[in-house]
Amino acid sequence: MPSEFHIIARHFQQAGLAAVPARDKGVVLGIGDDCALLTVPRGQQLALSMDVLVEGLHFPQQAPADLVAQRALAVNLSDLAAMGATPHCFTLGLTLPAADEVWLEAFARGLRISAQRYGCPLVGGNLARGPLQIAIQVQGLVPAGEALLRSKARAGHDVYVSGEPGRAGLALEFLQGNCPGLDAAQAQELLDAYYRPEPRLALGQALRKRAGAAQDVSDGLLIDLARMAAASKVKITVDIAAMPLAGVLTRNRDSSAVFRLAMTAGDDYELIFTAPPGKRKAIDAAARKAGVRVSRIGQVSKGEGVEVLDLSGRALAFDVAGFEHFR
Ligand code: ADP
Ligand code: MG
Repeated sequence: MPSEFHIIARHFQQAGLAAVPARDKGVVLGIGDDCALLTVPRGQQLALSMDVLVEGLHFPQQAPADLVAQRALAVNLSDLAAMGATPHCFTLGLTLPAADEVWLEAFARGLRISAQRYGCPLVGGNLARGPLQIAIQVQGLVPAGEALLRSKARAGHDVYVSGEPGRAGLALEFLQGNCPGLDAAQAQELLDAYYRPEPRLALGQALRKRAGAAQDVSDGLLIDLARMAAASKVKITVDIAAMPLAGVLTRNRDSSAVFRLAMTAGDDYELIFTAPPGKRKAIDAAARKAGVRVSRIGQVSKGEGVEVLDLSGRALAFDVAGFEHFR
């Protein structure tokens, strides 16, 4: 097995992936010493978040390494997006069963593509032998006091969602062989939704000073709205008729399955957020500026929990509120 040093030098210290101090603003020292050193600009706060992806649990066994890498960085960047932060850099903790050069090369290539795309270079990490797990910690910058929080939903606010949730959930069914009959374009759309979720960074940044609460949807729309409702001590009501539905869902599933996917499937990494009705024009402008579809799907009121109204305004029951570990 090549030494840890050689793996890092060959795969992770490569141009386009590793931070270059001086060129990457705020990075004083990148890979190579005991710590990376960063400067936080005056008036900004550091936003930190970390996600661990375990093979077989958060991505399929034998999944393509470059796509796993892109997904790993994207799900972390989505947390920065949800706070309205701008990506700064990331660290990587990797355990893998063997130093598989082909896998490492593809993995580093995927990371490099996303690091460049989102302006988020690698500044350090750790490497050990073990079951395949990818831990990434992202660091972002946000103007002091302007970060978007889950706890800021207020009675009277509108509730919004970005994109068209549910495609990543259908992608998982497809990867498990449970969605036959897709044409190549639909299959690609689903795989992209799952492996390359688009972190809504531009939208999150544009929502600062406009939105009330914001959060990304990692485990499912309803369960994540329930978390927002709990953090804000309010009730959230979703009008199912207002849900944006992806064509790839409505073409391949009946309406009850479409709603189940849109409301309860995870992995889409869209943003949910609230804002006072007086901000509707500002929210539309933010969405346009970010180039992201945004839909107004409900309201915040006094109370607690999440309620879903069906097409005739009756409250609906969903048996699975989303994916939760340790249940
Ligand atoms: P230490 O033992 O002091 O923690 P290491 O020998 O683990 O340092 O790592 C040496 C350098 O390589 C450090 O700068 C560390 O951040 C970096 N590094 C280690 N693993 C990775 C990785 N998977 N990706 C990027 N940088 C890494
Ligand atoms: Mg050390």
